Amino acid sequence: MVLRKILIANRGEIAVRIIRACAEMGIRSVAIYSEADRFALHIKKADESYCIGSDPMACYLNIHALVDLALATGCDAIHPGYGFLSENAQFARACKERGLIFIGPEPEVIHRMGDKTEARNAMIAAGIPVTPGSEGNLHSLDEAISVAEKIGYPIMLKATSGGGGRGIRRCDNADELRRNYARVISEATKAFGSANVFLEKCIVNPRHIEVQVLADHHGNVIHLFERDCSIQRRNQKLVEIAPSPQLDEAQRQYIGGLAVIAAKSVGYTNAGTIEFLLDDSGRFYFMEMNTRVQVEHTITETITGVDIVEEQICVAAGLPLRYKQEEIVRRGYAIQFRINAEDPKNNFLPSFGRISRYYAPGGPGVRTDTAIYTGYEVPPFYDSMVAKVIVSALTWEDVIKRGQRTLRDMGLFGIKTTIPFYLKILKHPQFRSGKFNTGFVEQNPNLINYSDKPRPEVLASVIAAVVASHTGL
Ligand code: ADP
Ligand code: ADP
Ligand code: MG
Repeated sequence: MVLRKILIANRGEIAVRIIRACAEMGIRSVAIYSEADRFALHIKKADESYCIGSDPMACYLNIHALVDLALATGCDAIHPGYGFLSENAQFARACKERGLIFIGPEPEVIHRMGDKTEARNAMIAAGIPVTPGSEGNLHSLDEAISVAEKIGYPIMLKATSGGGGRGIRRCDNADELRRNYARVISEATKAFGSANVFLEKCIVNPRHIEVQVLADHHGNVIHLFERDCSIQRRNQKLVEIAPSPQLDEAQRQYIGGLAVIAAKSVGYTNAGTIEFLLDDSGRFYFMEMNTRVQVEHTITETITGVDIVEEQICVAAGLPLRYKQEEIVRRGYAIQFRINAEDPKNNFLPSFGRISRYYAPGGPGVRTDTAIYTGYEVPPFYDSMVAKVIVSALTWEDVIKRGQRTLRDMGLFGIKTTIPFYLKILKHPQFRSGKFNTGFVEQNPNLINYSDKPRPEVLASVIAAVVASHTGL
């Protein structure tokens, strides 16, 4: 292997995931952590670990401190994971300038694809279908209203540097656009440090279909099929499926090919994902590109057998891809559940605190990626996702059954989680039919109604009545 030691500029399950890849490849791993994370699992799993500060968020975003530490500890590369600095072109550039390999695409490509309007323009130039929208960023409310009138409502107002489902508002008419315009700008400024916004046509009830691509420095670009991420709440993914149960083989080939053309057209290298929307008439539209490993890369690994993180490391080291397109075969279905520390019975209120007991689910076709353990205290400063449960089986029907069995198999006590909510989704006839769109959760308020089970005291009085009738009391 060309790389000997990697600093992981991240925390939680993805840091553990990357450390595992390093361990299998014989590469030493260096973990970093905030004071709030001093009991985190990634520290224990890495070969070396260093506390980098007391500010729970800022320390994971301190470009110069991380580059300095990587050099001081003799690392040759940095893996950024997802979130934090993973799509920060300045970070990628700082690594490069100081002689470190950034495990991801070139800084210019990160910059270009991280800006949603530039990415749209690049895709238009490459002949990829894109949703109709503003030519670039909007400069005024008046301009927004005139563009919206031209393309027709509903429209989506979006933060140009947005991510994680935030900074997006649907507007059904000019009044709503007027009301949301300043709000999205202010959200974008606060969350992403940029006031730029644009608008595009809202595809009503679309499916979110994304394609995983891998590209090396020798001109090879392949895709690893698609994922269906239509099960969302507030534009955030909750459950992801590979392959999509809603595509036929012709659509699958088409979208895979389109993603490869898109990646090639921008000189993409390393792992990346091209996100599309699919409308009711079967048309695909480019939405955005994520220039990093994604949370849901796991399900693609499961159906193809390709280790995406290992491939990222090999590509970054300059090696050619180990697979040709025709060698990528898929088998069965995989579903990932994002287990969030939130209470689905109470409007998804965050539920941080001590995990009093944890048992990982097991058995055939089950993978758990997490950084929790019994006794671990989930800190309130970070993302609420505490585990990813991935199940696989040969058929759609079987993967649903396996999902139900596995989520019941998992023991996670002390905090509230989204597990009961996922069990409701798995029971839902529409989900089971394999045909659903991004409106599924919002259109089914019964998914968050938990009152259909008899309350314990009701059950107790029924049992007492049955007992009484048998004993003749
Ligand atoms: P994925 O695209 O991998 O499915 P998400 O969109 O859920 O995953 O994002 C993964 C993590 O990265 C989340 O913690 C999210 O808040 C964070 N994130 C994604 N994009 C950005 C961004 N542009 N700025 C800040 N954080 C981001
Ligand atoms: P992020 O960078 O936060 O992931 P995306 O642009 O990928 O933002 O959009 C997130 C989600 O918002 C999509 O998965 C989809 O559900 C919804 N969405 C985004 N753009 C549109 C659109 N033009 N029409 C309908 N839904 C959209
Ligand atoms: Mg997205």
